Amino acid sequence: MKIARYRYKQKEYYGIIDEHRLLSLPDLAKPLWRKLPSRLEDFIALGDQSIEIVGRLHTNIRDSDVATFSVPENEASLLAPILNPPKIICLGLNYLDHAAETGKTVPKEPIFFMKPRTAIIGPDEKIVKPDFVRELDYEGELAVIVGKRAKNVSASEAGKYVFGYTVFNDVSAREIQFGDKQWTRGKSFDTFAPIGPWIVTKDQLTNTDDLAVRTWVNGELRQNSSTRNMAFKIDEIIHQLSRVMTLEPCDVIATGTPAGVGFAMTPPRFLKPGDVVRIEIEGIGVLENQVA
Ligand code: MG
Repeated sequence: MKIARYRYKQKEYYGIIDEHRLLSLPDLAKPLWRKLPSRLEDFIALGDQSIEIVGRLHTNIRDSDVATFSVPENEASLLAPILNPPKIICLGLNYLDHAAETGKTVPKEPIFFMKPRTAIIGPDEKIVKPDFVRELDYEGELAVIVGKRAKNVSASEAGKYVFGYTVFNDVSAREIQFGDKQWTRGKSFDTFAPIGPWIVTKDQLTNTDDLAVRTWVNGELRQNSSTRNMAFKIDEIIHQLSRVMTLEPCDVIATGTPAGVGFAMTPPRFLKPGDVVRIEIEGIGVLENQVA
């Protein structure tokens, strides 16, 4: 199921997207079952129950519920599906093709870094390029949304801790990233973490090791790869991460970017105000943001 946060007539909701209509989950639950949390993040934190509840509500939708509780997708604004994750963890150099284009080898152990949650923006919000940033770049990535607290989880058990998947843009100021030698400052600007347009629950996306990942800038295809080029797969990433830090519900794990980023082009091509970055991941959807 696709789960979105959205605004309709000044009010915020979360719900299912079905045939271009948004159905509020808490509203659907009222006549049928129970009171659901008012925030999507609290709903995800219900753990295993949350996906089960979505399935149950979706199966029991009646036409009258659709009429009462849904709004057309094009009359609502989609919001960042996760606004306040406990953490955003990102992987560096996790695609074979991206490591190759940067002249590096894939590391033996995964490289993790973090972005602050204050960098998050939603679909169609603007990526803001401060005047002093010269080398603004995109990185289209598959992001995992953690569903349950996880510590010391084996790779074979890792799937149990996932809520779902979304699209992420690991926006980067390259001259700062490379100048500093570590990546926090260059990747932590406000608006440098576009996420969305919704979360696809894990039961709907079973082939995460072979999904097309594509990024366009102003309609020009720049990244055209597949998650099968990931060096560390999602299960291994969760295993490795959970040996280090406790993963919590709604943590975002951005799994790295494939080849085709702007700084690796000859000559490099960076983003400028007005540019539109469109990232599509097979089975999830499209995340689009303009630079301002
Ligand atoms: Mg990245």
